[in-house]
Amino acid sequence: MKSKVAVIPCEGYEDNKVYEAIEKGVTLLGGWESFVKPDETILLKPNLLNRANPDRAVTTHPVVFEAVAQNLRDKGISRLSYGDSPGHPGNVEKTAEICGMKGVADRLGIPLADFTRSRTVEFVRGRTSRKFEISQGVLDSDGIVNICKMKTHQLERITGGVKNMFGCVYGMNKGAFHAKYPDAESFAQMLIDLNHLLKARLHIMDGIVAMEGNGPASGTPVKMNVILISADPVALDATFCRLVNLDPSTIPTVYYGSVFGLGHWKEGDIEILGVDRLDDYCNPHFDVLREKGFGGKWAYLDKLKFLARKPVILKDKCIRCGACVDVCPLEEKALLFPVSETTQIGAKKEVPVYNYNKCIRCYCCQEMCPEQAIIVKRKFI
Ligand code: SF4
Ligand code: SF4
Repeated sequence: MKSKVAVIPCEGYEDNKVYEAIEKGVTLLGGWESFVKPDETILLKPNLLNRANPDRAVTTHPVVFEAVAQNLRDKGISRLSYGDSPGHPGNVEKTAEICGMKGVADRLGIPLADFTRSRTVEFVRGRTSRKFEISQGVLDSDGIVNICKMKTHQLERITGGVKNMFGCVYGMNKGAFHAKYPDAESFAQMLIDLNHLLKARLHIMDGIVAMEGNGPASGTPVKMNVILISADPVALDATFCRLVNLDPSTIPTVYYGSVFGLGHWKEGDIEILGVDRLDDYCNPHFDVLREKGFGGKWAYLDKLKFLARKPVILKDKCIRCGACVDVCPLEEKALLFPVSETTQIGAKKEVPVYNYNKCIRCYCCQEMCPEQAIIVKRKFI
């Protein structure tokens, strides 16, 4: 059977327009009753990657979050909670506040789910990962509605439905997963296992203003004017790819999502609802890594350390905050402040320095830099 993806045009973040777009999309897919029951507790899982103003397109826009919550409420599904495990260490509530989510949630009386505790969950069917440390708030819910953001990503090229579920993993353990699954392919396979385990009921992508370029946190906002909705996160992400003229099979989460039976990516296996022609909404100039094959046409160069893609700090932008050093998941960090000759201790006086021989290219440092001071580039090309 084909997977259905609703593609709903929506040109801005006006409350009523976004509400109507969500309502239309879910109705085309069979209505909320096809996905949730009134007596269930539903976790709304937005993207709360870091403490960024909604205009920067780093996080799910609060108006989209509100429209989903209000749609559910109006259908009698009132037991809602929300939460995410931001990459930024510290208080989730503070992150939600800066992203504009907390204000909306407080107004609607939606409590923050417990992302401060976790439990180990065995997943015997996992092909790559059979054990996950899942946040308690996720386990306390009956089902999840995933409200992701349309963005580029340095490891997986794009982040959408499949990748956004990684925020259900308990915060302190996310770095360990990067260390355990250091390349795009193994990390994608782990994400597919996680999606199989958690089985979100519906995936809603905020693509009204997307992020291109140096995503997922330091890229450029770009209007795409669409909201995508599907029960199949692979089909959802594949449709995002087609909207930016990117071959979906070059995206590890899409490719392995299909191979491991999570969903469909081929055009013939997806039914597009809501628009007559996907091409009318396509932005072929969207700035995303377009090289063929996983890691790109030059992927084989990544085996040669001195030619591999690598994170680089733009010295004039760096404020020496140390967030990149803190987030590096390796036991022996691949990024450190230079050691002071007098104290013999790394101090936050100079720009951190990479040890590319240790670096696994997970790009967590680039993702967490609050100053957009880290770019990813390949030497000579
Ligand atoms: S590169 Fe970014 S995260 Fe690292 S110290 Fe500089 S500003 Fe902070
Ligand atoms: S230095 Fe950056 S890219 Fe390299 S392993 Fe550490 S966090 Fe990952």
